[in-house]
Amino acid sequence: MKLSTIAKLCCPFDKQDLQLKILAQDLDQNVIEGLLSCTTCRRQYPIIYGVPIMAPDEYRQLPLEQPVVSRWRLEYNIDPIKLLPDAV
Ligand SMILES: [Zn+2]
Repeated sequence: MKLSTIAKLCCPFDKQDLQLKILAQDLDQNVIEGLLSCTTCRRQYPIIYGVPIMAPDEYRQLPLEQPVVSRWRLEYNIDPIKLLPDAV
């Protein structure tokens, strides 16, 4: 997904701005892997294969997201990542 498109995204939970951490980009500056973080509710939305995973909590499939995040922990030394805040 293009950086300029990602910049327009907001948190689906509270509509606040998201911070982007880019983990992998292709030659056209598309973000292939990354992590969007909401500074307000502290939810984290991974970008996997260029697609931001931004479904509401009840539609998140954390068992599918977690293996990717676990790999990032090894590759990019991001530690620890919680995809959803504790109080969900
Ligand atoms: Zn939020």
